[in-house]
Amino acid sequence: MDKIRIQDDLFNSVNGEWQESAVIPDDMPSTGAFEEIFNKVELQLREDINEMSKNHSYENSHMEHACKLFEKVKDTKTLNREKMRPAYKGLDRINKLKDVTAFNRNLKELVLDGVPVPFSIDVETDLKDTDKHCVLLLGPDTLLPDSSYYRPGMEQQKAMMIGLCSNMIGALLAETKLSPEDQQLFLKDTLAFDEVIGSLVKSREEFTRYTELYNPFSTRTVSGLMKPVKVRKLLTDLFGTAPEEIIVGDPKFLKNFKTLFNKEAFVQYKHWAYVRYLMKATAFLSEHLRELGNMFMMALTGINKMPVPEKYAFLTTSGYYSEPIGMYYAHKYFGEEAKKDITDIAHKIIDQYRERISNNSILSDETKKKAIKKLSSIVVRMGYPDKVSPIYDKLVFDDKDSLLTVISKLGRIKREDSFSKLYKPTDKTEWPMSAHTINACYNPFDNSVTFPAGILQPPFYSLKQTRSQNLGGIGAVMGHEISHAFDSNGAKCDEKGNLNNWWTKEDFKAFKASTKAMIKEYDGYELPWGKVNGTLTVSENIADNGGMAVTLDLMKKTKNASYEEYFTQWAKVWATKARPEYLQLLLTIDEHSPAMARANMTPRNFEEWYNAFNVTKKDKMYLAPNKRVVIW
Ligand SMILES: [Zn+2]
Repeated sequence: MDKIRIQDDLFNSVNGEWQESAVIPDDMPSTGAFEEIFNKVELQLREDINEMSKNHSYENSHMEHACKLFEKVKDTKTLNREKMRPAYKGLDRINKLKDVTAFNRNLKELVLDGVPVPFSIDVETDLKDTDKHCVLLLGPDTLLPDSSYYRPGMEQQKAMMIGLCSNMIGALLAETKLSPEDQQLFLKDTLAFDEVIGSLVKSREEFTRYTELYNPFSTRTVSGLMKPVKVRKLLTDLFGTAPEEIIVGDPKFLKNFKTLFNKEAFVQYKHWAYVRYLMKATAFLSEHLRELGNMFMMALTGINKMPVPEKYAFLTTSGYYSEPIGMYYAHKYFGEEAKKDITDIAHKIIDQYRERISNNSILSDETKKKAIKKLSSIVVRMGYPDKVSPIYDKLVFDDKDSLLTVISKLGRIKREDSFSKLYKPTDKTEWPMSAHTINACYNPFDNSVTFPAGILQPPFYSLKQTRSQNLGGIGAVMGHEISHAFDSNGAKCDEKGNLNNWWTKEDFKAFKASTKAMIKEYDGYELPWGKVNGTLTVSENIADNGGMAVTLDLMKKTKNASYEEYFTQWAKVWATKARPEYLQLLLTIDEHSPAMARANMTPRNFEEWYNAFNVTKKDKMYLAPNKRVVIW
């Protein structure tokens, strides 16, 4: 094969060799820069947790509970012996619900215990006043990975998904005490109920406009629309005093709730709840049941093997004790010096954005002033937090209980803790991600960027990498996250994170028009496995381009800057090899463009790319100047 020229395909030219030799682990849908760090972190932590458990010497009481849970999930001998038994209590409880009256009588307990109900209720930050909390009401998730599979035009994919999903549910029901006729009935009802949910709830694409989640309804109206559910009683039971207002994330779902749940549909709901509970429970039962419960996801992602019990145990434990584990990781594997250096880079990027915004030609002075105020208020969280959340003092369990019981109790403690916050102020010191996470985020609701220690390692970042490499790696990712402060969602949240549109009408119109160009640039971009959805991915694409623009500015101020190093590093962080099924799935549900598109599309918008590698009209990664789009 001819050598791939960087001018034609940056992604494959940089990652081609890796791509050829990389092996996707049997229990993963993909591998790449993120996954390789993930595996490294996981192995380090697994070793440490094993060591602590063996010596009964724990860092602190939180880690002691984490280690004990780890041992419990790892103990497949006990789980395999117990089989389905630990799940019967929960399953029978659902089966015994006689009618809507009984449902209403038990509703608080059902919600607190995480039994599937036909809606979702949570306490969240109030987007209009982020010092406060509110009650957020949403529809339930569909069994299929996105409600869009139930929309017209998706019939073929839907039929395929339903087929795979039915196989899993059928196999799971066959393990229960239900008669074969009942198994058939439960499956049929579950699919029918799910189809109604699918017709009512928002799709992922619709959820990416998250400021549209904020729809205040009076509790009275909600109660009327959700009859026969006794909403006010539920709220009073949960919160002592029912709030007068509820934030409805999905008004269409609320307005049509009665078509989903009513006296006649109660049995159908019950069968659906039974199946959903069963699916959730299998994660904490025998190895055989775990595998059955994962059949659907495995088929969708092309995974052909379950993680080994110890990895499985780590992933589960990490879900319940994420902050203590993250804190342990950061203190042991992430240095003070790195924390200082990376914080410095973050502030340089913010300063550079200030300059870019001042020079921006779309925005009026009025909007610019507010944008700069927002930038100056960004809370920068690098590496690890000062402390873990107080909830971890409460997350204790009785070692004698079955794993499923332990998990149910821990889940209940978390829900009770979350519900108890409704009338209390929000805690601004809380981190949205634990310190060992291999990811980063911008949180529009407190105007903060978080870069956990987990992602602050090669190829993203290292004190040993050059500044150009760090700017092409973590710098561009940081610029990406910060630009979310100014995307279609960020434009609606002010410097405190409150839902408060700070743009003038004209500026927003101009911004919207420029996002159209970005949608057009990416929409339909062909990859070997399908096309990019420009609308679904627009915010993330704008962010990628913003991140590159701001770090290229910084490159100009960098001594001995090497643009070759910069772009090569950029391509390296997107190194990914994934199973075809998984790639297909992501095109529909992921608001990020596929890694290959991210690596190859973004540079084409920048002059520096053309100069660095002498890219001309003859090359595949050339884009005519009038087609290049940069928003930030
Ligand atoms: Zn993003």
